[in-house]
Amino acid sequence: MSADMPADNALPAANTAAVRILHEGYVREANDGEHVGGTVTLIVDGDTVVIVDPGMVSSRDALLSALAGHGVPADAVTDVVFSHHHPDHTVNAALFPGARIHDHWAIYDGDLWISRDAEGAGLSPSVRLMATPGHTEQDISTIAGTPEGVYVCTHAWWGADGPAEDPFSPDQARLSASRRRLLDIATVIIPGHGPSFRPDDTTPR
Ligand SMILES: [Zn+2]
Ligand SMILES: [Zn+2]
Repeated sequence: MSADMPADNALPAANTAAVRILHEGYVREANDGEHVGGTVTLIVDGDTVVIVDPGMVSSRDALLSALAGHGVPADAVTDVVFSHHHPDHTVNAALFPGARIHDHWAIYDGDLWISRDAEGAGLSPSVRLMATPGHTEQDISTIAGTPEGVYVCTHAWWGADGPAEDPFSPDQARLSASRRRLLDIATVIIPGHGPSFRPDDTTPR
């Protein structure tokens, strides 16, 4: 197997997931300071209902209304994924009281701490996790197989333009390696702080 072949071991076994963006992330300056919103994504695959990164958002009520708009009450969410540990992607986890929480090294279920490596961990037949360190050492990406292709929720990019050099990255080479792995499989990328995009030759590696 050559280095440029698709990373098949990262792909979900099925393509039955539905992916909906509940809140599109951003970073912007305003007169009262810097506003940071994290992208919040809903993935439904059979009985598995996943929230990837519960935010920071400007309004928790608006986030729950967006979820209800897809017919999902907050207590029906079965799983929350933290793409990494920064607060702009984690602070609202308690909005989903029935959910297990997944990060790079464990699953948290009530007061149960279940250690495991996120790489290749499955949440459902069409949803898997991939270890993608680079923005931080704790980054993971959520890979969803859908009838329209493979969707990737990740903070390896803040938005479609990168930034090419992530100012937070402790190791830009590791970030580049993670980005290449994701680009091997992604049809659509849902980044941490911007609109979803279809990667092309201009996508920072
Ligand atoms: Zn971050
Ligand atoms: Zn962020």
